[in-house]
Amino acid sequence: MKFRTSFRSKLMLLTVVPLAVAQIVTLFATMRTVEQDINSRAQESLITGKKVVTEFLDVRAEQLRTSVEVLAADFGLKEATATSDETTIRSVLENHSKRVYADMAILVDLDGTTIASTLSVAASQSGGIAQLLAEVSKRSFESAVIIADSAYHVFVVPLRAPITVGWVILGFRIDDALMTRLENLTGLDVSIVFSTDDAPAPKVVSDEQSLKLQMPFVTGGSRVSVVLQRSLREAMLPYIEARRGLIIFATSLLIFVAVAAALFSTSIAKPLRTLAAASRKMISGNYEGDVCIASDDEFGELASSFNAMRLAIAEREQRISHQALHDSLTDLPNRTKTLQMLKVAIENATNENRRMAVLCIRLARMGEISSTLGHKATDELITQAARHLRANLESGDLLGHTGTNEFVLLLPGLEAEDALARVERIEQILGSGVILNNIDVALQTEVGIAEFPRHAITAADLLRYASIACTDAEAGNERVRIYRSGREEEFVRRLRVVSDLRAALRHDEIQVWYQPKVCLQDGSVCGAEALVRWEHPELGFLYPDEFIPAAEQSGIIVHLTRYVLTEAVRQCRQWLDEGLDLNVSVNLSVRDLLDEYLPYHVLQILKDHELKPEQLTLEVTESSIMKNVAHSVLVLECLRDIGVCISIDDFGTGHSSLAQIRNLPLHELKIDKSFIMTIMDDPQNEAIVKTTVDLAHNLDLSVVVEGVENEATMRRVAALGCEQAQGYFLSKPVPADELANWANDYQAVVYSERRQATILR
Ligand code: C2E
Ligand code: MG
Ligand code: MG
Repeated sequence: MKFRTSFRSKLMLLTVVPLAVAQIVTLFATMRTVEQDINSRAQESLITGKKVVTEFLDVRAEQLRTSVEVLAADFGLKEATATSDETTIRSVLENHSKRVYADMAILVDLDGTTIASTLSVAASQSGGIAQLLAEVSKRSFESAVIIADSAYHVFVVPLRAPITVGWVILGFRIDDALMTRLENLTGLDVSIVFSTDDAPAPKVVSDEQSLKLQMPFVTGGSRVSVVLQRSLREAMLPYIEARRGLIIFATSLLIFVAVAAALFSTSIAKPLRTLAAASRKMISGNYEGDVCIASDDEFGELASSFNAMRLAIAEREQRISHQALHDSLTDLPNRTKTLQMLKVAIENATNENRRMAVLCIRLARMGEISSTLGHKATDELITQAARHLRANLESGDLLGHTGTNEFVLLLPGLEAEDALARVERIEQILGSGVILNNIDVALQTEVGIAEFPRHAITAADLLRYASIACTDAEAGNERVRIYRSGREEEFVRRLRVVSDLRAALRHDEIQVWYQPKVCLQDGSVCGAEALVRWEHPELGFLYPDEFIPAAEQSGIIVHLTRYVLTEAVRQCRQWLDEGLDLNVSVNLSVRDLLDEYLPYHVLQILKDHELKPEQLTLEVTESSIMKNVAHSVLVLECLRDIGVCISIDDFGTGHSSLAQIRNLPLHELKIDKSFIMTIMDDPQNEAIVKTTVDLAHNLDLSVVVEGVENEATMRRVAALGCEQAQGYFLSKPVPADELANWANDYQAVVYSERRQATILR
């Protein structure tokens, strides 16, 4: 777990801890010095005490020794000893003892045998007396002995008459009075200690409580020692008070500083905490409320800067989020916002059990307008279109700008079919009223409509379906289309087809099949139309109707055409080499007619395969030429100049007339199969074909018919003067090798009515 130390705590710690440490260190250092001082003073007092005691005892011993010597010189005693008058001896001893305040007196002979004693019998038999008597007869001496649990200071002097006849022993009890005196003299605790051996040399020893100095009672050693003692606690007494005062002072100071630091740090930390809380609020996206710090110091300054920053960020964020959800050009909700609006609208429609129409409105020909008038003009058009759309919204309608030239209009409460009236109004509004450089520009639209909940129930699906319907309207050259259920799957398949086509070209999945054409005049096989097929690895065998429109829309058609052209020319060369002389036709699309490099490309392929241009026919539909006549004519003229045969495919299905195509660089008309397949049952169609053939011939164009499915049709088209025929009656489109076999096996038949139907081969 991570602990977070607040600024306030840190400030407090920083103030209080160093002070506390300093105080503790000072206190300990002072106390230590004091203790050391007390200790050394105590030692000094012990050493002084020892000197005083030694001095005192020496003087006292001198006095006592004198009194003993006085007794030993006593004539009466000497006489009584000489006469062995024991009663007199004791009497002298007792009298003398009393006089000099001795506590015992003994007279012993030279052998150490007691002659007379003032001691009781029991005391006379104590170990101290025995030890004392053992030392008698050697010299006069002074000692301290223990007799019957009492210590005595004894002096032994010879009794001379004039030679030594015995020894006088005089003892003075070492009692409490003596100790008290010593204590008064030294100011120390004084006590007597007995030991079995001689007392150790004087030395200061210490324990926790006190300092002690033990010294022999008699100089030169004795088993009785005087112990001088100094209580450390007592010595400390004057200082204990001082120490307590010091501790109280230090603690008070510490508490005072802690309280002051707490107040100070609180006053510093409070504005910081306020600012931190405001920052957290901002992080969570709440920019409300001023930070109030009522002071004119740096914190007050910081607070006002913070408030200014908060307002700036709030304003910027609002702007950014508006920009993120609105189109910069029209200020209408963008795709994300539109989706959000649609979700809410779906919720409302669900709650109110209502339907809703979702319109995808695309401005048509914007690419064209942009390339002619420029981007600025396009932007102006889109802005005006948006303004018009917005101005004509009804209550509850919602409008979004979801792509450069795409708008989405949500019409809650309306069914798709009801929305058609609104579409008409939109077309009227945009069809006139959009002004650019003082010119009234008629904007065209394609509209796709999806309906909630009929087609979809989610916002994303509804938008997508409306868009698909719009794309379908565009592809079908319609103004408006309502989404058809199941159309999405087809759309997805189409997208897949488009995205896979490029790879298909690289991976040899594209094949070129051929459908033969026969010459109706002599029944010979004169040509073959190259028709593309796609063996898709997952979707299976695909016919051109499925992928050619998609390829055209995506632009891949240009690559596909070049592929088919190369393959067809190569095949034509191969057939020629094998002795089969066939003209090959290749279909071109709208985009190919815009490709200025196509003629060079065709020329290059023909050169590469050493093929004459007359061997190649290029089929173009009239509608594809009409999409961009000027450009298409340029490309077609180049192709014609090369020597390639130009055929107009599916003739009759477009809106052009023969008069219109009169000026086109053409060689051939290919009448659409829809007229031919029904020619036998529909006299009107027959009349159309007949007129077309006559007019074509007048324009020096040969006529090819496709869609011949039976012999009767074959005869009829031959009778009408068509030059060539193509259709299932002869053969369906087949792979190249199959076509070669078919051509070899083909029994040529002349269907022309002018000649007898004869078998030529
Ligand atoms: P199209 O150029 O008009 O080709 C003739 C179409 O009619 C062929 O369909 C052919 O199979 C079919 N057809 C021929 N005789 C009969 C008949 O007796 N009865 C019936 N019902 N149909 C007959 P396919 O191969 O499906 O091609 C369809 C269209 O695809 C072609 O129409 C052409 O516009 C386009 N297409 C085919 N290959 C290419 C190509 O390589 N490039 C381009 N740009 N378009 C191609
Ligand atoms: Mg064709
Ligand atoms: Mg055709």
